[in-house]
Amino acid sequence: MEVPSLNKLKQQEFTLASVTDLASSSSPLSSSPVVATFSCVDEVTELRFQGSESADGFTFDLSSAQLFKLGPLQFVCVSDSSNSAKEKSFSRGVVIKFRDEKESNDFSDSFGQWRKDAVKQGSSLPNGSVSDNKGKFDNKIEAASAKMYFHYYGQLLHQQNMLQDYVRTGTYHAAVMENRSDFAGRIVVDVGAGSGILSMFAALAGAKHVYAVEASEMAEYARKLIAGNPLLAERITVIKGKIEDIELPEKADVLISEPMGTLLVNERMLETYVIARDRFLSPNGKMFPTVGRIHMAPFSDEFLFVEMANKAFFWQQQNYYGVDLTPLYGSAHQGYFSQPVVDAFDPRLLVAPSMFHVIDFTQMKEEQFYEIDIPLKFTASVCTRVHGLACWFDVLFDGSTVQRWFTTAPGAPTTHWYQIRCVLSQPIHVMAGQEMTGRLHLVAHSAQSYTINLTLSAKMWGPGANQGGILQTSSCKLDLKEPYYRMSQPQVYPVSQEPPSQPQDIQIQSDDLEDIELLQQNANAQQH
Ligand code: SAH
Repeated sequence: MEVPSLNKLKQQEFTLASVTDLASSSSPLSSSPVVATFSCVDEVTELRFQGSESADGFTFDLSSAQLFKLGPLQFVCVSDSSNSAKEKSFSRGVVIKFRDEKESNDFSDSFGQWRKDAVKQGSSLPNGSVSDNKGKFDNKIEAASAKMYFHYYGQLLHQQNMLQDYVRTGTYHAAVMENRSDFAGRIVVDVGAGSGILSMFAALAGAKHVYAVEASEMAEYARKLIAGNPLLAERITVIKGKIEDIELPEKADVLISEPMGTLLVNERMLETYVIARDRFLSPNGKMFPTVGRIHMAPFSDEFLFVEMANKAFFWQQQNYYGVDLTPLYGSAHQGYFSQPVVDAFDPRLLVAPSMFHVIDFTQMKEEQFYEIDIPLKFTASVCTRVHGLACWFDVLFDGSTVQRWFTTAPGAPTTHWYQIRCVLSQPIHVMAGQEMTGRLHLVAHSAQSYTINLTLSAKMWGPGANQGGILQTSSCKLDLKEPYYRMSQPQVYPVSQEPPSQPQDIQIQSDDLEDIELLQQNANAQQH
């Protein structure tokens, strides 16, 4: 069901089977159906339960109310009953029963939405403080970005794309099944459940109960898919909402999630994963995955470099239908080189042993994801032109029985993440054994991605090396949100590209345009 926004709707009604006051008696409010009404009057958002044949009822201030699911058709709603700080504060609660599961799910979705709006309006929380979780996502992420993001994940075709990445889904399945003891009899939270596949893996491994939390419309499909697997369905509750906003009735023993984006951190969902840890995971609870690593190595790829430079050549025309396009050549060139390249490349293009940066999901604070600074240091294995930095990631499932790594490395079975390369518009020349230093500086932005600042320098080499000076430096700034998906390009890496370099690699010393054109002709000739 579409959950209407409070702005559009001032009242919403649901018919319930019964409502029973927890404090006063075990008899229901009314023998006939009860109406639950969400409303917003004078900026106070309320939920009122009223028997259709009685004047009695209960009213809850939604800014302090919480809903807990007891079963498919049964909830308990609790809130702070006191309006005055001087009065002693007691909690009150009612047990609500529904006539069918659809009504129960719709009510729970609406409760989340109305409550979120109530809190957004600035009403105080039960302890009088403003929650630092509620709205946390909305405060740091642009509404337009979030809308597109959840629209994307709300579509089955994109979930299918992930399910059909068998390296990914198969590794998750293996990691869960071979660590059954971590799941059997445990409470599990699936952070960003999508189709619900990981929740069902957890249930298959014997989880006592799984809370499948999904913010997009995919939550409805997940409900449908899970309901169609009745043996698992009785142990899975789908909760539609953001991890940052929802409440759970109990703490989890295990979190399972697939929050990785390109370069590990794209989409900024790792922040949601650690928020889930802080909000819902018991001390000593387990996280699947547990740790992630960003791997980096310099690469040499004349074909890619020429291909990118060539794209901007369009703007070199001085007579395009009588118009001089050259004023925009510089901007176009810069534009192409600000796109990280996403494709699967041959690991032989790497020209130094890789290094890695660890991100421990069990320890990392949410704020630490806002800026990630990685100092770089490599030793070139060959004499070549370095065209930039290649990156990939892996994650560890630190199970009690088996520790399993999932990798997106070049040369390993390809995943839908492929690998990512940051290309420098000014390549760097290095000799075998020469040291390179630099910095990969990632700054999060509100469109759920990162600005990448890369600097690579070739250190002094040969007789002057002990002075520690820099021979050549090259920098670039890229937007991880705007990658260049290069998958449609032919992936031809002839032996002549392989290290150690062929004479053609070191002959080309100049970046001027004629050289690049010449290279392009060579590249084309070799591809056919
Ligand atoms: N777990 C599924 C889907 C992974 S994709 C699988 O492995 O196949 C990540 C999912 O997390 C998406 O469906 C996305 O909508 C959801 N998601 C992202 N951020 C979220 C948040 N803050 N709260 C709840 N769900 C979120």
